[in-house]
Amino acid sequence: MPRKKIVIIGGGFAGLSAAKEFGDFDADITLIDKTNHHVFQPLLYQVATAALSPADITAPIRTILNKYSNIKVIMDEVISINITTNEVITKELKIPFDYLIAAPGSRHSYFGHPEWEKYAPGLKTMNDALYIREKMLLSLEKAEKINNPDEVEKYLTFVVVGGGPTGVEMAGSIAEIVKISMMKDFRNMDLTKTKIYLIEALPRLLNAYPEDLSERAKKDLESMGVTVLVNYFVTDINEDGVKLKDRFIPTKNIVWAAGNTIPDLLKSLNAEFDKAGRVIVNSDLSLPGAPNIFVIGDAALVKDKNGKYLPGIAPVAMQQGRYVAQTIKEGKDPDLREPFKYIDKGTMATIGRAKAVCLIAGLKFTGFFGWLLWCVVHILYLISFRNRFKVMAEWAWYYLTFRHGIRLITGHPEK
Ligand SMILES: Cc1cc2nc3c(=O)[nH]c(=O)nc-3n(C[C@H](O)[C@H](O)[C@H](O)COP(=O)(O)OP(=O)(O)OC[C@H]3O[C@@H](n4cnc5c(N)ncnc54)[C@H](O)[C@@H]3O)c2cc1C
Repeated sequence: MPRKKIVIIGGGFAGLSAAKEFGDFDADITLIDKTNHHVFQPLLYQVATAALSPADITAPIRTILNKYSNIKVIMDEVISINITTNEVITKELKIPFDYLIAAPGSRHSYFGHPEWEKYAPGLKTMNDALYIREKMLLSLEKAEKINNPDEVEKYLTFVVVGGGPTGVEMAGSIAEIVKISMMKDFRNMDLTKTKIYLIEALPRLLNAYPEDLSERAKKDLESMGVTVLVNYFVTDINEDGVKLKDRFIPTKNIVWAAGNTIPDLLKSLNAEFDKAGRVIVNSDLSLPGAPNIFVIGDAALVKDKNGKYLPGIAPVAMQQGRYVAQTIKEGKDPDLREPFKYIDKGTMATIGRAKAVCLIAGLKFTGFFGWLLWCVVHILYLISFRNRFKVMAEWAWYYLTFRHGIRLITGHPEK
């Protein structure tokens, strides 16, 4: 019998976990990603705020998988999936499959206002992070050259839209780098006058966390000089700033951390999607009507054992990758497959230096201890030993000196 052909779309948390699980399997595995690297997204905001450099949180997908001789890596963009002929169509190739694992992650959604993206970039890829970093650093350089206090305000005002973990981490990190780390570097402007806003449409930050942890995150952010506005919808974004129901915030620095949607390629699956565009899959993560096609990670909508939808986080994506690979390896009849069960090991978000909120096995941790836990977990999950060591050294250096190091303006990143 010919060897089975298994195609994986995406070298993120879900796709890579699936691929590694196939390392000892007698089949031809092809992993396709439009970039050549895996990104550790939970630390992207640290690249965007110049705390870590890009190489600290990325690793070449080829290198990660080079010990598995049955796995081929292709760098190409998948355009669509033909579920009749069982083929993946990329920009340059048509790749046939017996089984397909689609794990292309998600993109930002601007709630019907794609024109906002130009002024309010989101943070999903390394390119996004470098673009935001460059924009933020250029804004400060511009402010240093302006003497008129009214004119300078918009360059020293930062707005983060979306009070989930990414928004909270981003706002805290901007407060630290601008108000503390860079203080000594500028002569003409008073960086203590910097304004940082975090805007959330729901009544509280970190909506998926218990209320007391949300409140703690808000207090920590406020103590760092961030103005937290809850129950606020953004009604417009343009080149001069952000419009809310009762005010206009003049700014040149907006980061979008609010909505998600899935990449276009999944629209060719002829599947059902939820409001955020995620593919509604069966309990074994297969596509209804196509037991050989699986959608996993941020792109899939799956319920846990209590009927609650699973969040778009790395542990969910990794467990789904391993589960689907096992399911394919077992080769059971689709009706006999065990449903996917998520094991919740906890959730955490950092707010700043020595400030974090964590919920692990029902126990809550905040402050310095929470932050230490956050550091350890994030170091452990970084993909290579070299990166773990480098990031640990960067954080230790920052902790002791308050100095963020990676502040290059290269003129390259483009949106
Ligand atoms: C800024 C940020 C902070 C986060 N913080 C945390 C956190 O603290 N803790 C946590 O658990 N989770 C966090 N998350 C969420 C977590 O990173 C995601 O849940 C996880 O990355 C999802 O994994 P995935 O494999 O589904 O998608 P991804 O990791 O996004 O991987 C998708 C891959 O598919 C590739 N791809 C996409 N489209 C195509 C195409 N058309 N053709 C070929 N390849 C394609 C991409 O290049 C990418 O490599 C964060 C996410 C972000 C953006």
